[in-house]
Amino acid sequence: MDTILRLAIQKSGRLSEDSIKLINECGIEFSNGGGKLKSTSTNFPVEFLFLRDDDIPGYVSDGVADIGIIGENVSVETQKKVNTVHRLGFSKCRLSIGVPKDFHYEGPQSLTGKKIATSYPNILNDFLHEHNIHATIHEISGSVEIAPGIGLADAICDIVSSGSTLISNGLKEVETVFRSEAILIANENLSAAKNKILHDLLFRIDAVKRAKNTKYILLNAPNESIDKIIALLPGVKSPTIMPLAKEGWSSLHSVVKENEFWQVIESLKAHGAEGILVIPIEKIIQ
Ligand code: ATP
Ligand code: ZN
Repeated sequence: MDTILRLAIQKSGRLSEDSIKLINECGIEFSNGGGKLKSTSTNFPVEFLFLRDDDIPGYVSDGVADIGIIGENVSVETQKKVNTVHRLGFSKCRLSIGVPKDFHYEGPQSLTGKKIATSYPNILNDFLHEHNIHATIHEISGSVEIAPGIGLADAICDIVSSGSTLISNGLKEVETVFRSEAILIANENLSAAKNKILHDLLFRIDAVKRAKNTKYILLNAPNESIDKIIALLPGVKSPTIMPLAKEGWSSLHSVVKENEFWQVIESLKAHGAEGILVIPIEKIIQ
């Protein structure tokens, strides 16, 4: 039987949509309808397992799954032995300390002797240890932010994105403990055949990621400005220059980093660039 790589992704939640989007952008097709637990791709040697996110690091370290997409926060917290093979750049969030808004916070030492509620006891413990703080960690599995209000804890350590949940519970964010994003993890003992499939997958992920911050640019400019325009666009290498039917004008085609483009747009126009088109690129193979 041909080798197949088992990829664990979150069944439903804050990681699922972007995980599936990434897989699709890599040209890998599969069906995940009907609440199925498993699905096999029709055009790439990978089988998907749809799981609760908390179970993914354990399954990958045990070899039930070969690779998985997971929040770095969960991967670090579970302390399972896995390889982090890629940072994926989505599901960004942070784990922060929150205290009641009238708490007089002057730094980590203000947590000395306090009781802190969290679903991330290991990450919190590392933070306290690093700052030499002795505090009590109270582990709870959900609704951490209500703990101070009901007298269960003096502070919390929880995932924050906008901070509005903290505010609506009368808390303020005082310390960032950990910054997280989605990562691709792999079993430490993948066979050579599985590593080869992983390598092919990473190649595709890289091509998609590279394309995301690079755009295809087309513009028209008077011939005498073409050199200056190329110099203005540092990302532009070996552009294609074609004469326009309009005498003394050329069309320039190239690729450019999106952020670099926004920095020079006004100067481009000042040098006479017209009809500027910036077009998304789907994939860049290098
Ligand atoms: P499951 O049912 O699979 O156990 P869950 O409720 O534990 O799901 P989610 O809320 O779906 O988990 O969050 C999954 C991961 O997404 C988190 O571990 C974190 O890495 C990331 N995440 C959490 N909150 C946010 C947020 N507000 N914005 C972006 N990413 C987030
Ligand atoms: Zn979970």
